[in-house]
Amino acid sequence: MSIPNQRTVYLNGEYIPESEARLPFRDRGVKYGDAVFDTTRTFGHEPFKIREHLERLYRSLRYVGIDPGLSLDEMAEITEEIVRRNLPTIAADEDLWVSQRITRGIVDPNERSAWPDYIGPTVIVESLPLPLANRAKLYRDGIDMIVSSVRRTAPDMLSPRAKTHNYLNLIMADEEVSAQNPEAYALMLDHNGNIAEGRGSNVFFVSEGKLVTPQERYVLPGISRQTVMELAEKIGIPCAEKDYDLYDAYNADEAFITSTSFCICPCRSISGRVFGEGAIPGPVTKRLMDAYVEFVGFDWVSQYTRYPIGDATRL
Ligand code: PLP
Repeated sequence: MSIPNQRTVYLNGEYIPESEARLPFRDRGVKYGDAVFDTTRTFGHEPFKIREHLERLYRSLRYVGIDPGLSLDEMAEITEEIVRRNLPTIAADEDLWVSQRITRGIVDPNERSAWPDYIGPTVIVESLPLPLANRAKLYRDGIDMIVSSVRRTAPDMLSPRAKTHNYLNLIMADEEVSAQNPEAYALMLDHNGNIAEGRGSNVFFVSEGKLVTPQERYVLPGISRQTVMELAEKIGIPCAEKDYDLYDAYNADEAFITSTSFCICPCRSISGRVFGEGAIPGPVTKRLMDAYVEFVGFDWVSQYTRYPIGDATRL
C-alpha cells in the first residue's frame, strides 16, 4: 500500500489532507472536463505573478461561464495559504506548482440525487513539487520537438486562450509524438498550418537576432511568454507576434519554449532538423534566460541543472 502524502488541498471551503479529498463522480469536471484552471510556481518558495495568473483564471472562468463564488482576492489568499501549508512537505532547495481548479459541479438535479447538498461549483486549490530532477537533461541538450498531425483547437471552436481542463486536444498531440520518441515534445500547428504551441508551453523562434512567437489568438497567452516579451523589449531584442510556418521554423537559428515551470528551456531540433549551429542554449536564448533569472531573483537554471542527467520526461 502506498503511503499517503502529507499535503493539504483546499476543497470547497475546507483545508484537508489530499488523501481525504472526495469528489462526486457526476461532477461535470469529471464527466466532461467542464472546468478551468491556472497554475503558478514558487521561486525560492515565493509564488510568481499570482495576480497575473489569477486574472487569467478569472478570464477563463468568465469565458466558460462559471462563477467560482470567490473574489480574486479570496482566491489569492487561499492560494497563498496552500503554499504556506505545503512548503514544509518539500526540501529547502525545491519549489512548488500551485493550481486553482474550478469545475461547474453538478448542474442537473437528477444527477444530484446521491449528493443533494452538492450545490455550486467545485473549487480546488492544490500544489505539487516541481519535477526538477527529470528535466536537467533538457536544459543541457535542448528539447527535441516533433510537429504533430493533431492541430490545435481553432479559436472559433473553443478558444485556446482559455485554460480549460479539457486537454484532450493537447494530449492527443503529445501521445502521437511520444509514440515516436518518448523524450520529444509535441509542437502543434494551428488550423491554418502555422505554428501554435506545445502541450503546456508557448514557443519562440530566433531568426536573424529577432524573436517571433505565434499570435495570442491561437494559443494560451502564457504568463512566461508575456514575461519573455517584456524582458526582450528591456534588453533590446525585437520581438514580433505573427504567423510563423514550418518553412520559417526549419530555417530558424534558435528556438525555446516558455512555461511557468520551465521558464525558458532551449530547443535543439524540430522534426529532426537541428536549429542553427546547434548551440544549447543559443546566444539569444541565453541572454533571455539570464534576464529571466535576474528578473525573478532566483537561479532556476541551476535548480534544474544541478541534478544528474537521467532520462528526460515530458512532464
Ligand atoms: N500553452 C498551454 C497550452 C499551456 O497549458 C501552458 C501552461 O500551462 C502554456 C502555454 C504556458 O503558460 P504559462 O507560461 O502561463 O505557464
